Amino acid sequence: MQKKTNLLTALIIAGLALGVLIGHFFLWDSTATPEKIAEVTGGWKTAGELVLIRPLKLITIPLIFTSVMVGITSVGDARKLGVIGVATLVFYLLTMVLAVGTGVTLGATIKPGDGIPPEVIAQAQSTGAAVVAERGQDVAAGGGLGAAWINILRLMIPENFVDAAASGRALSIITATIVLAIGLLLAGKEGEPFIRVVQSLHEALMIIVRFILWLMPIGVLLLVAWAVGSMGLKNLAGALAAYVVTVIAGLGVHMFIALPLVLFIATRVNPYKFMWSIRSALFTAFGTSSSMATLPVTIEATSDLGGCSKRSSGIVLPLGATVNMDGTALYQGIAVIFMFQAFGYDLGFAQYLVIVLTATLAAVGAAGVPGGSLVTTLIIINAVNTTLAGVDDVDPLPLAAIGLVIGVDRILDMCRTTVNVWGDSVGARIITRIAPDTPEEREKAFA
Ligand code: ASP
Repeated sequence: MQKKTNLLTALIIAGLALGVLIGHFFLWDSTATPEKIAEVTGGWKTAGELVLIRPLKLITIPLIFTSVMVGITSVGDARKLGVIGVATLVFYLLTMVLAVGTGVTLGATIKPGDGIPPEVIAQAQSTGAAVVAERGQDVAAGGGLGAAWINILRLMIPENFVDAAASGRALSIITATIVLAIGLLLAGKEGEPFIRVVQSLHEALMIIVRFILWLMPIGVLLLVAWAVGSMGLKNLAGALAAYVVTVIAGLGVHMFIALPLVLFIATRVNPYKFMWSIRSALFTAFGTSSSMATLPVTIEATSDLGGCSKRSSGIVLPLGATVNMDGTALYQGIAVIFMFQAFGYDLGFAQYLVIVLTATLAAVGAAGVPGGSLVTTLIIINAVNTTLAGVDDVDPLPLAAIGLVIGVDRILDMCRTTVNVWGDSVGARIITRIAPDTPEEREKAFA
């Protein structure tokens, strides 16, 4: 077992390295037009989607249903469920605020946006205008955080379960499954056969996830080759270098210092051993840039080698993949500060506070898909513009400023998604303490 896991890890790391090399040396061409680059690299992306992303997505929705059902029905008692629910939400909120706090502090002190050349800004505005026209029309028309939250509430109260499942609306499936699980528990003996059917389906799905894991080396190779080949590593060293370094440093602090500290204080578990034990989930997040597509692997890794209970991971992880995004919150904080700095704005304490609050709320609304935080970043720009207008009647920052960060977004997306998944996993490990599956786990959790 251990040998097989080590072999898989070695293959994934080899896939990653090979992907970078192929992307950099064979696919990237600094003289080619964007259309030509897309033509050359497009096949790699399609292949990566076929090999890894589609199989993962196929299993995600049924697995959300079974794992939430198994998690809730095995806890059983309503009071305990309430405690787990509140503890989970408090954990999500505190760690996201901690993450944006780190991001805003770094953005405000390093000032990565100072001195961006005017031609880079002009070029960015035309790319940005196209992006806003395509994906940010609602925000451009004045849709802000309020509208985004109404949308979240609509998702939480679905009116058609089948439609929600068919359209992959995870949050809807989670709330509907929680309600169904409670109904089954209240039905007592009559509810048990259905619960057993779902448990057996859950076991089967987990076996399928273990098969899919073996597709990862090649899937990661294809996707990383596409990402590097279509963006070019040299771009990371250009005018945006300080920005890229600030984001990666912030994500590093949150991933390797802040969350490990939280985990250690709450559980006394060795955080780095835990990180290593769930590496397959972290690699998948890095390769796919999607917490949602990674969810099956996160559930498998945390409950297998990671020592989390099914009760905890069944509840904490599906919800976490949709609402808990530490990496995204941190990234959005820095990205917005960077854009304002590059366009010559002076932000003060009031604006930083607005960024902390809105970036946290906006990260909850971001979808766990590649580039999911693009639209929510626009919402934060709007919110900061509103406070600036109140203070000294300056022109608002154009939403097209988003064009500045688009060019390097995929690589940063890979990094922030890894932190998102790590944050969810830390939550699952902590909640295992209050929701262990077995007496032995209980003992281990408190050892
Ligand atoms: N790609 C991220 C995720 O799936 C969301 C984002 O920040 O764009 O977690």
